[in-house]
This record gives sequence, structure tokens and C-alpha cells, in this order.
Amino acid sequence: MSTTSFSKKTLGLETGEPAVTPPPAGSETTFAKKPKLGSTKSKKRDIPEGLWMKCPKCSTMIFDKELDDNLKVCTKCGHHFPIGARERINALVETCSFEEMDAQMTSVDALRFTGVAAYTDKLQEYQKTTKLKDAVVTGIGKIDGHRLALGVMDFDFLGGSMGSVVGEKLTRLIEAATEKALPLIIISTSGGARMYEGMFSLMQMAKTCGALAYHAKQKLPYISVLTNPTYAGVMASFASVGDLVLAEPGAMIGFAGPRVIKDTTQAELPSGFQTAEFLMEHGLIDAIVPRKEMKERFGYYLEFLIERLKKAAALG
Ligand SMILES: [Zn+2]
Repeated sequence: MSTTSFSKKTLGLETGEPAVTPPPAGSETTFAKKPKLGSTKSKKRDIPEGLWMKCPKCSTMIFDKELDDNLKVCTKCGHHFPIGARERINALVETCSFEEMDAQMTSVDALRFTGVAAYTDKLQEYQKTTKLKDAVVTGIGKIDGHRLALGVMDFDFLGGSMGSVVGEKLTRLIEAATEKALPLIIISTSGGARMYEGMFSLMQMAKTCGALAYHAKQKLPYISVLTNPTYAGVMASFASVGDLVLAEPGAMIGFAGPRVIKDTTQAELPSGFQTAEFLMEHGLIDAIVPRKEMKERFGYYLEFLIERLKKAAALG
């Protein structure tokens, strides 16, 4: 954006009448030292942005660092703020145990999509702001003593949407888990399939589920974790077919959004509709696990699942 066209010079203000009568000669220093009128404003501007976060649930102002130390969970009411894929992985896996897979895989603009914005521009923009190549990070690591395959989505990258790269990275992760006989955990957050890749995005639903079927055939456990929000093509594929489906408290989960459903059914939606709590009550989710307990609960659930699947395998 050009600022020159709005500069004082162009507007001719420099030569115009001063708005305030200039102080007598010699008193400039005193005048400059006491800018009383502007002092409140400049103080406000001095506070660095982003140091405090307001909790959307309880309105408490929380210091950024305090929020980070608490895994982005409100210290007063337990509201779960969004957390990045890398931050989540760091909090979950044992130190230095994570070996990332396909870290450099990036999307291509197969459809040469140009809508409101060109897909290539969007990709570049989000790669820059998130420092991620796409909306999922995958790899092999250790959690609570279990070596496992882990995939974590990041909502900050194009709304966690699933295009070819997200689908391919997850499929390769699932296939690696099958090959190495490892349990699998996928932590989802997504608005659904990626519009910019059209049909290629939709194909990822079948591809990921196909790979999961082979993983399940080997009697290997898969835990799916739904975090806020998990919707559409992701929820309608790999995210909903775990041996165990867990969710973070308060997460919004569904296929179509509540507004679409309300418009279609022309009916009032029940209170708490599409929240993790509502879905657990109705049997879609097995357990709601607070973020801070996730690591420990993974260990517990995996032991249980591995034991059960071993027994099932022995029975044929
Ligand atoms: Zn709160």
C-alpha cells in the first residue's frame, strides 16, 4: 500500500496554518518535554500487543506465558484455546523421540484455482505465518513409554483443511504404522476438505480410511482425538473411525455446521448441539479428555487396547 499519496507534503499541510500556536522562541524544549495531550494515547500504544489473552468463556485476562505453561488452557475455567501442531507434539512426546515424516511435502495447485484469492498465494501466505508446509505434522515418537505413529493437525494452516498433502501424509503415516506394527494416534482439527483442491481433497477421505482398514486388520490400535473444531470431510473420514474416539472439552464436532442444519431442518437445535459433551452423551465419543491429562490417558488407553486386540488376535 502506498503511503506517499497521503503524506503531509501532498496534502499541502506543511505550508498551511499550524493548528496550535507555536511557543515563543527558546521554549521548544519545555514544550516537547510535556506532551500532556498525547500522553495517555502513547502509553496505550506502548503496551506490546498479544501479552494478554481474554478467555472467551470466563472473560479472565490471562498472561500469554501463563497460558503457554498451561498448554493453552484457561487457568480459571479450563477453556481450551487452540494450540499449534508443533506445540502439541512437544507437549506429548518424550524428549527428542519424535522423527518427523515427509516434512517437506507441499501442495501443488493442480486445478489452478483462482477464486477470491489464488491457491498458490494462500499456500505461501500460510506457510509463512505458521512456519508449516501444510495443515498436518506426522511422525514416529514415544508417548508414555509407547512407540507410536502420531499425526497432529493445525487449524492455523488454512483452517486445518484436508487437501492432497494432508491426506497423503496421513496415509503414509498409517501405512508406516501398519508396516512397523505400531499404534496410531491422530489429533484432528479441521474445517473439512480443502476447497482449493476440489475432488482431489475428497479422494483423501477414502484413501485415509482405506489405509486405516489395513492397520485395523493387523489388530493395531488407533486412537482418534477430536479437538475444536473438527468438521466435514475430516470428521466424515479418518477422525470418526478410531478404536477409541476421544475429544477435548468443549470441542465443536460435526459434519455440516449448526446453521446449515437449522436452515435445512427448520427446527430448533437442542442446547449444546455438536459439542463434545453432547456427542459423548449420544454415543459418538468414548471419552472427553482435558488436554493436560492427554499424555497419561494415551498410555492407559493404549495398554488396554493392545491387550484387547492381542486377545482378539489369539481368538482369531
Ligand atoms: Zn476462562
